[in-house]
Amino acid sequence: MARCAFCGAEFETGPGDILLVCPYCGTAQTTEGAKFEKHYMIRVHFDRSDAERTLLDWCSKQLGAPDDLAVAARFVEAKLVFYPFWVCNVEADTRYQGLGKDARFYDRWPQRPEAFKRIEFYYKPESGRFQRRYEISIPGIEDIDEDIKRFPIPTRSREYFSHAHAEEHDGIVLHSKVSEEQAREQAKQEAYNRQTALVLEEVDKIESRDDNIKVGEAYLIHVPVWELKYRYGRSTYKASVSAATGYVIESKYPRTLAFRAAALAGGLVFLLIGAGLFYLALKQGLWYAGGLTSGSIFAAVGLGMLYKAASTKEAKEEI
Ligand SMILES: [Zn+2]
Repeated sequence: MARCAFCGAEFETGPGDILLVCPYCGTAQTTEGAKFEKHYMIRVHFDRSDAERTLLDWCSKQLGAPDDLAVAARFVEAKLVFYPFWVCNVEADTRYQGLGKDARFYDRWPQRPEAFKRIEFYYKPESGRFQRRYEISIPGIEDIDEDIKRFPIPTRSREYFSHAHAEEHDGIVLHSKVSEEQAREQAKQEAYNRQTALVLEEVDKIESRDDNIKVGEAYLIHVPVWELKYRYGRSTYKASVSAATGYVIESKYPRTLAFRAAALAGGLVFLLIGAGLFYLALKQGLWYAGGLTSGSIFAAVGLGMLYKAASTKEAKEEI
């Protein structure tokens, strides 16, 4: 329990909550009662019925979804959760020196002009610089769903946090277990990792680097997500829909038995063709590279279809 330093009300807190939002007056404050000013929100543009309709529309269009899904599904739960995120603006400047891999080719085969008898790899020194600006968001809670964590926050449409707005939609505003200092530290590390990834696209080994990473403005933002549950037939399906954009972050949905059976059969056929091509390529040496490549493609498609046949999950909008 904590007592709000501004309205005096007592409210629930969980272990590890560091930055609290009073559910009565909406003031963001530290556990010592210092007011936190840089507190923003994304407003709700899709109310409960909009979110439910958008979700069912979207699920109905998915491959293998039953035709009567939109009319037969019954919602059994709808919660509006405002998830806390820290958004940090980071400037990163990295100079690096490293070794890039290169190759020399010798002696073409006469029958196969694309193939060489000998390839020699060697390293050559390379250097460069990456200057980047990042807007990095750090979730304020740890056990957050991966899809909600990765979902891009429309920060340009942020507004100051409005308690009245959250209350109007019965939103649950979560406290943050991450302090501003911790968020800044994590954002700095994340920027460093992204710079490393950029450098490693240029060189294979980093010999030396000089990083100048500055975390500038950082603020807390609450992002509204509809956590929905609906029933179809005997099963219950869960979904997360952005209350700001109506974007389906993640959803499970039913698939017809006919679809599953077709996917299962198709998957097995593709897998067999893939295995056959592999066998021919390895055994006969005929169209070696072509056989291996198309073999893997067939096998991958086959596995993908088997996965679709077996799973209820994996439905997401493409970002
Ligand atoms: Zn209060």
